[in-house]
Formats: sequence, C-alpha cells, structure tokens
Amino acid sequence: MKIKDILNKKQPTLSFEVFPPKKDSDYMKVEEATIKIAKLKPAFMSVTYGAGGGTSKHTVDIAAKLYNSCGVTPLAHLTCASSTKEEVANQLGKLKEQGIENILALRGDRVAGREIAGGEEYQYASELVQVIRSYGDFCIGAACYPEGHVEAANRKEDIVYLKEKVDAGCDFLTTQMFFDNNILYNYLYQLREAGITVPVIAGIMPVTNPGQIKRICELSGTVLPQRFKAIVEKFGDNKEAMEQAGIAYATDQIIDLYANGVNAVHVYSMNKPEVASSIYHNISKIIG
Ligand code: FAD
Repeated sequence: MKIKDILNKKQPTLSFEVFPPKKDSDYMKVEEATIKIAKLKPAFMSVTYGAGGGTSKHTVDIAAKLYNSCGVTPLAHLTCASSTKEEVANQLGKLKEQGIENILALRGDRVAGREIAGGEEYQYASELVQVIRSYGDFCIGAACYPEGHVEAANRKEDIVYLKEKVDAGCDFLTTQMFFDNNILYNYLYQLREAGITVPVIAGIMPVTNPGQIKRICELSGTVLPQRFKAIVEKFGDNKEAMEQAGIAYATDQIIDLYANGVNAVHVYSMNKPEVASSIYHNISKIIG
C-alpha cells in the first residue's frame, strides 16, 4: 500500500522505525526485533539506510521481509550522499524488484573524504526525488526539520529548499525528532504559509538512553525542553526508570499531537520491540 493513501484517510496512525545491522552477524537479531514490532500492525514501518554503504545492503532485505512475510507496509530509506548515480539506480532496481512502493528520499550526511568526484553524486535530496519520480510509480517521502537543518543558514532558507524538494515530487514529509510540540505546531504553520501542503508525519523519539540522545541533539541542534532535562537529570542513571519515563514523555507528546489534529506519528523505535509495544498499548484505544 502507498503511504500517501494511508495518510489520506486522515485518521490517527502510528508507525515505527528499524535500522539494519552494522555487522552481518547481527542480522538475525534485527530481523527478530523487526518481526516483533511488525506484530503490533503499525500503519507502516520504515527501514533506514546507511549513507554510502555500511548498513545499506540489508535495507532491501528487511523491507522485503516486512512486505512479504509480516503484512506490514515498508518504507525503505535511500540516501544519495557518498553513492554514485549508478549505485542509487541499482538500489532503486532492487526495491522495485521486491515490490516495495514507498521510499524516503534523503541526501544523507556528507562525510569528508567520501565525496564522489566528477559530478557522479546527487548533491541534494531534491535531485534524488526527481530521479525516483522518473524511475517508477513510487510513493516518495522526504525529511524535514522543525528546528532547521544544521547546515541551513536559517530556518526560512531551509523551508525555501524544502519547497523545492516537495515540488520535485514528494508525497509526504517526516520530521526530525523534536521534544516540544509547540515547535512542530509553529513549523507546520510556516510550511502551510510557504505553500507546502503535503502531509507531514511527526517524528517522535522515546528517549531511553540519555547519553545517546544528548549527542544526537548536539549534532542536530534539537532543543531539549526544561521538563525533559529534569526527567533525564532525575532518572538518567537508572536504566529502567529512564525507559519508563522516556516512554511516558513520548506518549504524552503523541496524545497531544493527535488531540491537536496531527494524525500521523512516526516513532523512532530503534529496534526496541518493548518500547514500541509500550507506546502502542498506551495509545491503542486512540488509534482504534
Ligand atoms: P536535503 O534535503 O538535501 O537538505 C540538506 C541541506 O541542504 C539542508 O540544509 C537544506 O536546506 C540544504 N539544501 C537543500 N537544497 C539545496 C540547494 N539547492 N542549494 C543549497 N542548499 C540546499 N540519514 C541516513 O544516512 N540514513 C537514513 O536512513 C536517514 N533517515 C532519516 C529520516 C528522517 C525522518 C530524517 C529527518 C533524517 C534522516 N537521516 C538519515 C539524516 C539525513 O540524511 C541528514 O539530516 C542529512 O544531513 C540531510 O538529508 P536531507 O535529505 O534532509 O537533505
């Protein structure tokens, strides 16, 4: 099923994310976690892609598993930084072959020393969106950043480039994680003002490992509200307490989003079935 059709129903939906293993020897572990999360029957599940190789080779395998054996709609991520145009085309061929209909088109983080010379690399996700659009009948999503992308000169310019990306052929957007819903509401208003009308899926990260999240937030510029910092300060050293508090915080954000008309929520579930399951059960009566 195409994700744009799921979103068009305008009902509260919940989706989850998994990432492929870095080492081949961890493949079964990740597959097991994927199957457990899929049993919750989310609206769809996304499978990340390591820019320029790394975890990229298993993205198609896990997405195909979801599609063929689990009965869950997969969203395969695809990045173009540090890949040749030919490598991108090969990956698109594999996705098409497996019947995968949904792709999240990303540039990926640029890694110094891994640039592809001679114009053989797409520079921005908008170019990738155009290529996918011309390649087949895919439903295409892209990333957006309620607090601005780290490389953008300012948020206004970021939205100008986002509009170009959407106009290149995006069917929907998924946001970077945020911990203050007011930042998202404000951003959605700015997107509509800029003429961006495609559905926006809100990305929620349940924080269970504060050290990791602190690093991610420093890199991505995501603001941690005082209420959240207090939770980390109080429970950060107690793994189980932190996990419970992180799930409660994420649940609270999700319920507030649904209550304010943001129907599509994507949970960065990080291969953790127990976290996905707790959140799912906390809101199961809302998503019906
Ligand atoms: P782009 O849309 O190309 O934007 C990158 C920057 O360039 C922005 O600052 C933008 O304002 C600017 N820009 C865009 N067009 C132009 C232009 N024409 N001229 C000048 N500047 C321009 N990374 C992975 O490696 N694998 C994943 O699976 C993955 N999944 C993700 C999922 C989500 C929902 C999100 C939010 C991020 C994900 N990322 C992933 C991280 C992402 O790859 C990085 O944030 C990356 O730095 C930017 O990717 P993008 O597709 O947003 O880039």
